[in-house]
Amino acid sequence: MRRTARRLADGREIVYFDDDPQAPPRDAVDTRDLPAQRPRSEIRLDPLTGEWVAMAAHRQTRTYKPPADLCPLCPSTPGRPTEIPEPDYEVAVFENRFPSFAQGVPEPGDPVLGDLAPRRAAVGRCEVVCFTSDHDSAFVELSPRRARTVVDAWADRTAALGRLPGVEQVFCFENRGEEIGVTLHHPHGQIYAYPFVTPRTERMLRVAAEHHERTGRHILGDVLAAERAHGERVVATSDHWTAYVPAAARWPVEVHLVPHRQAPDLPALTDAERDDLAELHLAVLRRLDGLYARPLPYIAAWHQAPVRTGRELSWLHLQVFSVLRTADKLKYLAGSESGMGVWINDVTPEQIAERLRAAG
Ligand SMILES: [Zn+2]
Repeated sequence: MRRTARRLADGREIVYFDDDPQAPPRDAVDTRDLPAQRPRSEIRLDPLTGEWVAMAAHRQTRTYKPPADLCPLCPSTPGRPTEIPEPDYEVAVFENRFPSFAQGVPEPGDPVLGDLAPRRAAVGRCEVVCFTSDHDSAFVELSPRRARTVVDAWADRTAALGRLPGVEQVFCFENRGEEIGVTLHHPHGQIYAYPFVTPRTERMLRVAAEHHERTGRHILGDVLAAERAHGERVVATSDHWTAYVPAAARWPVEVHLVPHRQAPDLPALTDAERDDLAELHLAVLRRLDGLYARPLPYIAAWHQAPVRTGRELSWLHLQVFSVLRTADKLKYLAGSESGMGVWINDVTPEQIAERLRAAG
């Protein structure tokens, strides 16, 4: 894998990752006349839940469902420069033009509720990860080698963003499908670098700490061993990873990909674990598309250790889930889920696992 870092016209960073070290040099210049971005996003603490909420009003002007010939993630062609100056690329990662979190965000003004609801600059970074230059492709259609390059790109960015001032947690994810709210059809994912530990990670770390205190072991290691021994919810396995439907799945379709060894984050994975992950990730996505015989809208969310805390207690895993409960019916997050945070699932995890095994 070869890595080339460049700058776009407005100073944003773009990094190319090539499967082939002999790929053409990535030295194209961004010819656009772009104004420098001055994101003004902020975070406010919800005084009732103790959770941060990000506000990024400047994002309302962002690109919304452009026609394919105006796709900003396709390679540039003569007369039509895009976000990616090269005439072709393999994997490209660049800073989001409309970020919710960014470096150099100004501190917000006066408190809105005295000490009760502190507000801070939304310091961090948001990046876009393009998986291929082919507009009409999808992650599931990548070669294992290209998927491996994406894994390397995620690991590279996780380490790089974790070194930025103010960043406490790095989240790599992919939203796929209009049902998830995807506004650009080009195969891509995103990376958020947050200035705080996210509520879900904080909660999982608390549970992991309690389990470790009681047993001296990792909660996810124990869950993984039990799932593998039990087998009923296991969807696919490889030498270094197991994919299973979690015992208390919240979503009508949900699969966790878990490494057999405790690793806090993607940079900690070995070459063999990364190769294996690329293959298993593709195999799981093929099963998901086979479930309803249609491309499944999904969210793929990487759970990684925070930058500074809980690294010994964290166990990297990928959570892939869908809002689709039949081929054409969506699960909405309604009263119980949205109001109370209590999920009601219409199918059992054992049924989902059985269908996913059959869908291969
Ligand atoms: Zn495109």
